[in-house]
Amino acid sequence: MPLTVYNTLTRRKEPFVPLDPHHVRLYVCGPTVYDFAHIGNGRPYVIFDVLTRLLRHLYPKVTYARNITDIDDKIIVAAQKNKEEIFDLTRRTTDYFQEDMKAIGNSPPDIEPHATTHVKEMVSMIATLIEKEHAYEKDGHVLFSVRSFPSYGRLSRCQHDEMIAGARVEVAPYKRDPEDFVLWKPSEKGVPGWKSPWGYGRPGWHIECSAMSSKYLGETFDIHGGGQDLIFPHHENEIAQSQACFGPKTFARIWLHNGMLTVNGEKMSKSLGNFITVHQLLEKLPGEVIRLVLLSAHYRQPLDWNENTVFQCRQSLDRFYTALRGRDLSEKQPACETVKVALEDDLNTPLAISALHDLVTRLNKARNEKEKNKLASTLQASGEWLGLLQQNPERWFKGKTGIDENKIMELIEARTQARKEKNFLEADSIRDELLKTGVLLEDTPEGTLWRQQ
Ligand code: AMP
Ligand code: ZN
Repeated sequence: MPLTVYNTLTRRKEPFVPLDPHHVRLYVCGPTVYDFAHIGNGRPYVIFDVLTRLLRHLYPKVTYARNITDIDDKIIVAAQKNKEEIFDLTRRTTDYFQEDMKAIGNSPPDIEPHATTHVKEMVSMIATLIEKEHAYEKDGHVLFSVRSFPSYGRLSRCQHDEMIAGARVEVAPYKRDPEDFVLWKPSEKGVPGWKSPWGYGRPGWHIECSAMSSKYLGETFDIHGGGQDLIFPHHENEIAQSQACFGPKTFARIWLHNGMLTVNGEKMSKSLGNFITVHQLLEKLPGEVIRLVLLSAHYRQPLDWNENTVFQCRQSLDRFYTALRGRDLSEKQPACETVKVALEDDLNTPLAISALHDLVTRLNKARNEKEKNKLASTLQASGEWLGLLQQNPERWFKGKTGIDENKIMELIEARTQARKEKNFLEADSIRDELLKTGVLLEDTPEGTLWRQQ
């Protein structure tokens, strides 16, 4: 079955036809680095990691670019608040971001350009926009003239009047029209800036993505992704800048947007203060549980973060890894067709996950070891499409713990000895002692195994 995806531009599910079948190119808006990423921020990166995995299975070459926004007013404010150099703040928080993304199973993008090292490209694009009369300078600011771009609003389908009403709340004196947006703005003393034909200043946020995507993926590429909250104005503005600069048929052909992660029905966001960072969560949850939660709803639907879903996802992973535990996985198998078909249908991850459960049910019913091993290999290969089930099952059960594994092994040994000597009182007391520290023993034909409770 061909891959179909829901294109926000057409509001329809469409067959995915790459511009170049030998090389698929996608761009995803990256983080603004001034603090830890919250799990809402983690959602698009997990979704687009799964999409990239799928594309890599289907096409010979894929280039995935995701930027780092390391210049922004929020960064300037945070650095002042922390009494920290901007560069120290952005480097520190970029490191956290990359560590956290790895911990929730995301592969790094192929290209991760930083905005601050691409100002030259942004200045050049802004100069072209002025030349083509799509932008104008006023008092050290450069603004994009929305009126000069008649198809503005096609992606978000915002009513022009609504946009103007929104923009009118506080009209800056340097704007010709309220809806015009900033491409370049002056930097005061002590604030990061670059020399430009319009004076010392810094780029606006939107122009970054237009400049960096065209540099690494070309003026026209296949897929652009991000959260639904970026459709307007960020993505609308990216389209306007890029097409006004490079031509009407350029830029991303397909737009994919993930739904919001919510808490009690409200969008998780830094400004509302209802967020949990990925970093905090990793203290108490394995990254793989966080990943499974983020994949448990269809990517376009909202997903509410709650203890119940977390609990269920942990149970599911226990079930999957129990099926893999002790199996001979040396004979590789292809992924199960149902998982592939589900993902090809606009990334239907809930269906793909239920197909993993079906595989376990079949494995549990299988009559011989050979068949069980085969199904376990299929399960592992299928999990890989979702970025799941790639750990050694023993690791999963033991987790990243502060528990002294040698000590546990010693106690298990002592218990086995006690049982041999029919000293069941002693054996039970060792088991209970371990249980108190969260270590659960399981007696199997292969000996006693342990796991974290
Ligand atoms: P930011 O660093 O705020 O620019 O956000 C990075 C990414 O996270 C963007 O793609 C946003 O659309 C996405 N995002 C922010 N909040 C949420 C949320 N609550 N649920 C899902 N995605 C989000
Ligand atoms: Zn962007």
